[in-house]
Amino acid sequence: MLYQTIKLYLCRTLPKERPVMSELINNFFSLFYPEVCPSCGNLLNKGEETVCLSCRFLMPRTGYETIPDNPLARMFWGRIRLNAVSACYFFAKKGRVQPLIHELKYKNNRAAGYFLGKEMAKEIKQSTFFEGVDYIVPVPLHPKKIRVRGYNQSEVIASGMREVMKIPIITDNLMRAVATASQTKKSREARWQNVKDIFVLNRPYLFIGKHILLIDDVITTGSTIEACGNALLMTPGIKVSVAAAACAPG
Ligand SMILES: [Zn+2]
Repeated sequence: MLYQTIKLYLCRTLPKERPVMSELINNFFSLFYPEVCPSCGNLLNKGEETVCLSCRFLMPRTGYETIPDNPLARMFWGRIRLNAVSACYFFAKKGRVQPLIHELKYKNNRAAGYFLGKEMAKEIKQSTFFEGVDYIVPVPLHPKKIRVRGYNQSEVIASGMREVMKIPIITDNLMRAVATASQTKKSREARWQNVKDIFVLNRPYLFIGKHILLIDDVITTGSTIEACGNALLMTPGIKVSVAAAACAPG
C-alpha cells in the first residue's frame, strides 16, 4: 500500500491546475505497481479508482440513512439519545466490505478509508435526517494505538467525508482518556466495562448548540459510540448523529 500512499500524497500536493502532471504520475506508478482492488484483489481497469466497479456495485448498502428507525438506530434506543444513525454498508465475514476495512486498519491503505468516507458522505448529504451538521468528529483512538498504526482509521474516513460534505473535522476536542486492551475477544459486557466513561471533551464550550456527526469504521455492539455519546451529550444544546462505514446485519 506504499504505492497508494505515495500516489495520494503526490497527487494532493500538486496544484489543482496541473491535472496532466497528476495523470503522468499515475501512469508512471502503474507501470511498476499495478493497482489492485482491495476488495476483490483484481487489477483495477483504467478509470477505476481505489475500488473496482464490480465491487462498488456488489457491496451491500444498508439504505439506513433514509430510515430514521432503522435497526442500527434502534440498537441505541434506551441507551443514548442520538439524532440520526446510519452505516453505509453491511459488514459480513468474507464479504466485499470486510477486506476494505481490513486494508484500512491493518495494511496502511488509507485510500480505502477515503473511498468509504466519500461513499458515506454522498448518501448522508441527500438525507434530511442528517441536515445541519456543524462538525465531523471521528471516534478517537488512544495515542498509543495511533503510534502503532500511524493514523486513526476513523479520521481517514472523516477526511473522505469532508471532501464531499465541506464540513470541518474536529479531532482535538473529544479525547480518549485511557488505553483499552484489545476488544476483539471480550464479551459484550466486558467490552462495555472496558470503554465506559473514558471519553472526555477538552473544550466542551466548542460544541454548545452544535450538531456533531460522530464517525466510526464498524459498529458492532455500539458500546464505543455509546461512550463517546455520553461524553458529547454533557454539552448543552448539542445534537449527536452517528455514521459508520459498516455495521453487522441486524
Ligand atoms: Zn473489486
